[in-house]
Amino acid sequence: MTDEWVIGIDLGTTNSEVAIYRQGRVEVIPDARGNRILPSFVGVAEDGTLLVGEEARNQYVVFPERTIRSVKRRMGETTPVTMAGQNYLPQEISAIILKRLKGMAEAHLGQAVNKAVITVPAYFSDAQRQATREAGEIAGLDVLRMINEPTAAALVYEAGRQAGKKILVYDLGGGTFDVSVVRIEEGVVEVISSHGDNHLGGDDFDEEIVNHLLEQFKERHGVDAATSPTALARLRRAAEAAKRHLSDRPYVTIAEEYLLEHKGKPLHLSLELSRDAYEEMITPYLDKTLEAVHIALNGSGLTASDVESILLVGGATRTPLVSRRLEEIFGMRPHGEVDPDLCVAMGASIQAASIQGAQVSAVLVDVTPYTFGTSAYGELDGIPSPDLFVPVILKNSPIPISKSEVFYTMVENQQLVEVQVFQGENIDALKNRLIGEFTVEGLSPAPPQSPVVLRMDLDADGVLHVSATEKKSGLSKKISISHAMERLDESEMIQARQRVASLFANEDDADEEARQEVVRARALMEKAERMLDLASPEDQEEMINHIEEIRQSLEDHEITRLKAPCEGLSEILFYLET
Ligand code: AMP
Repeated sequence: MTDEWVIGIDLGTTNSEVAIYRQGRVEVIPDARGNRILPSFVGVAEDGTLLVGEEARNQYVVFPERTIRSVKRRMGETTPVTMAGQNYLPQEISAIILKRLKGMAEAHLGQAVNKAVITVPAYFSDAQRQATREAGEIAGLDVLRMINEPTAAALVYEAGRQAGKKILVYDLGGGTFDVSVVRIEEGVVEVISSHGDNHLGGDDFDEEIVNHLLEQFKERHGVDAATSPTALARLRRAAEAAKRHLSDRPYVTIAEEYLLEHKGKPLHLSLELSRDAYEEMITPYLDKTLEAVHIALNGSGLTASDVESILLVGGATRTPLVSRRLEEIFGMRPHGEVDPDLCVAMGASIQAASIQGAQVSAVLVDVTPYTFGTSAYGELDGIPSPDLFVPVILKNSPIPISKSEVFYTMVENQQLVEVQVFQGENIDALKNRLIGEFTVEGLSPAPPQSPVVLRMDLDADGVLHVSATEKKSGLSKKISISHAMERLDESEMIQARQRVASLFANEDDADEEARQEVVRARALMEKAERMLDLASPEDQEEMINHIEEIRQSLEDHEITRLKAPCEGLSEILFYLET
């Protein structure tokens, strides 16, 4: 590589980033404060100072007339934009963002930078591309190439690939959505078709939450908080933060003290939002994106089954519902290992390096090779079972990572929950590797279906921290599993298989009978739990006692103790059913 750097730039509607490719690795360049994401906002402060990025975004809330956001939407237009009473061409505002990114790269590298690869959306017209090139020139950058954003994303995951592959790139940012079908062949990426919506993105999700907050506030206090611009701005910020939390947790508490003063009295906002309720709010938006996916597929002459890989780009794709909905259509899990906010800039830097003749390859990220989860009651092959595997941290997630999911108690006044932690992919938890277990005892008296939050943190050293917390009381228990990333090696596997085989050789009918008894007892227990509501209070109490006894016997592997409670339970169920 020559001494002259070519930087890769993602000039986004909401955020922009700059990256370089150095010694086989991509570096996304931080600013002096360590931020790698520059909000695409430009403003002029009251004293005439130019504001770019975070400061401009903060000013936007109070002085929108002195601030410009989303100028990317205006690229290619000849009408000027107005900032603090002055007219500017969209290219000039974009150039200010580019100049800041160039400066960040220069400070990081300690030398001047004059060349760049800049990404643009696949749907950009010639005029929009020309305007972007001009913005680069105004910023003092020689734009060596402009590449499509989905192409950049494909390079991050597939650079260096020779054999052909068809890929769907799903890009959901703050204010725009695009989906593209791309083909990579002998290292060359080509966009076959593209579709999208220029006004759909994570900001719409925030707005849904804001509306919900306003409704709740009005219901509680009889006041419309939207009449106060500052209160509204605070709600927007709180909603965005809540949305991010809900990508990793099942609930979030939104609290804004002194949101408003009404008739001399301060009013506070405090409420809880569940991921379920939030997902319901955003479903219509995701439906729209999926319609666009089908249009892009039609446009490429391909069907869902032709797609070999799905790549996620844009911060809003961290919403777990996005992956779930795509998985339903394509039958495969999308890739989001590379930070979806930084992916496009990284691809631009890979392209920049290859223009300079470097041998480039796909980006490697530290990911977990296994899925981690727990067991819960559910259906396995249509049969109720306590051993359904529920994944919490998915295979190929970048580490470190933290995820939590909610589980529910089964019976009234349940006193304890047993948590088993498994590593593996099988839907039957018992076919996965049990790597840890613990019990949370002393739950507070509560009706069935009371939530318990299970949290898993996999740290950079591969240690898995697992905690279970009763939501109502905060009662919690935690374990750390240091061997979570280990797997038996081949010789251990052979030995284990031999040991199991030799045990089976000694298996006698008594064992088989005991196994059958355990299966019967489990099924009976689940049936009883399902029918608990139908029983009279006395019967309920008796049933719970039997269930507890069966559970304890199973836990202690005391098969002989199963008989009495099973018979008692069968009898009650018989009367309940007739
Ligand atoms: P981008 O335009 O690609 O930078 O994406 C920005 C959008 O992603 C904004 O709407 C963010 O609020 C959203 N976003 C960022 N992080 C998350 C997250 N963890 N979960 C959901 N949305 C997120």
